[in-house]
Formats: sequence, structure tokens, C-alpha cells
Amino acid sequence: MTITTQKPLVRIEGLHKYFGPHHVLRGIDLTVNQGEVSVVIGPSGSGKSTMLRCVNLLETISAGRISVGDQLIGYREVNGRLHDLKVREIAAQRREIGMVFQRFNLFPHKTALYNVMEAPVQVKGKSKGDAKKAALELLDRVGLADRANHYPAQLSGGQQQRVAIARALAMEPELMLFDEPTSALDPELVGDVLNVMKDLAKSGMTMIVVTHEIGFAREVGDRLTFMDGGVVVESGDPREIIANPQHARTKEFLSRVL
Ligand code: ADP
Ligand code: MG
Repeated sequence: MTITTQKPLVRIEGLHKYFGPHHVLRGIDLTVNQGEVSVVIGPSGSGKSTMLRCVNLLETISAGRISVGDQLIGYREVNGRLHDLKVREIAAQRREIGMVFQRFNLFPHKTALYNVMEAPVQVKGKSKGDAKKAALELLDRVGLADRANHYPAQLSGGQQQRVAIARALAMEPELMLFDEPTSALDPELVGDVLNVMKDLAKSGMTMIVVTHEIGFAREVGDRLTFMDGGVVVESGDPREIIANPQHARTKEFLSRVL
């Protein structure tokens, strides 16, 4: 349940995104409180990935603003004027945000352990000993303690995705973004990944999750947002929206994925 005294961690306000003449995001507003799980659904091409990529600085913003904590994403505000961030500052903002993609993007020639250790050592300057200890704990947390020395090709898709989650968590992000993390998996592997995400939600992590797993939205979501055509059509309590969608487009979409 959302408690009204909770603090917003993420504020997306009037977000627009153009790719050339193509107006992909048309004024998105979304607030995610600290510790909340915000689930986003919508048909293919509705702009879900683009929205996440704007939050994570993988795309520039055409108009509007995004803030995470007290940071304005992509900009620095000096005397009311916005300045573009330097590459180093973009990297610093991105470090605070973990992202898990549909495809696992692990380094194929490195073990699970190395995949999880790499960024804390290379980017954060952690000692190898500390990074290894933390990585083994994270692999244990995602149920893969016994797979630390396996290479990605020796792991199932679901195991690879759990390594990808551990790798994102190794950077100790304040926010985790998930872009259809289970949609490339065989059905029997989906549950293990969703269980890891449920545990993460219970631990208090703030998460934005793009998924078609309506059961996950119902069970762990604090908010459900339905996007279509680059706008938010409907947003609110997941259980209410699933049971009683207000808009024809939401109803039609849910009837296809339920
Ligand atoms: P979703 O994740 O909801 O399926 P996307 O955010 O991936 O939607 O895409 C929204 C729209 O933006 C689509 O029409 C897609 O073709 C377009 N789009 C996404 N990325 C780019 C890009 N880099 N260049 C041009 N068009 C893009
Ligand atoms: Mg997408």
C-alpha cells in the first residue's frame, strides 16, 4: 500500500521524446515514491522502453524533466538555467540507477562472478576482495551461489537474467529499472526471475518494471500505469485497474495479456 507520507524518488514531468519527426513520448507524468514498485504495461511501440531509457540517460529528453532524488536527470540547474551534464556527470547519475534489459547483456567470456564484480571494481574502485565478497553474497541472494564460476553460455536464460540482476545490484543503485526482464525467457524460467524481483521489492528497493506479467503487477505493484501511443492512458492501484479498467484501450489490452 502507498503511504501518503512517502517521499517521491522519481518524478517524470511532461516528458516528450522525438526521434527525428517521430513524436514517441507525448507528455508523460509519473511519480514513484521511495520503496514503491511501479509497473508499466502497454502495447509494443507505446514508448515504454524509451521512457525507461530517458530515466537512465540512454536517451536525451526532448522536453519536460525527470528527477531522481535531488538530481535533475541529464542537466545541472544553475541560477534557474539548465546546463547539459558533462560525460563524467552523466556516468555518475547513471551509476545510481540499475537497469535490467530483456536480453541479459552479460560478458560472454567472463564468469558469473566476474560479471557481477566487474563494475564495482572498474567503476567504483572497490578492492577485488570486497567486490568478490559482495558479488558472492548477491549471487547467493538470486539463488546462484553454486554457479559463480559458470560462463553465461553454461547458464539458462533465467539464470543469466538473475546474474544480470545481481550485476545491477552490485552497484548499490537507489533505483532499479526493469525492461521486460522475463519476456525473452522460456515460460518455465519466468517464475525464478519474478521471485528474485519480488524479494527485491520486499527489501524496499524502488523499482519501475515494464512487464506483461499481470500477476506480478497485481501481487507486488504499488501502482500500475497503462501507456499507449506515447501517453499515460490510465494509472492507479494495480488491483483496481486490473479488475475494473476505466478506458476501452486498457480493457482491450488487458483482455489480450490476461
Ligand atoms: P515499447 O518499449 O513500448 O515497445 P519503444 O519505446 O521501444 O516502445 O518504442 C516507441 C516508438 O519509438 C516505436 O515506434 C519505435 O519504433 C520508436 N523508436 C524507439 N527507439 C528509436 C530510435 N532509436 N530511433 C527511432 N525510433 C525509435
Ligand atoms: Mg520495449
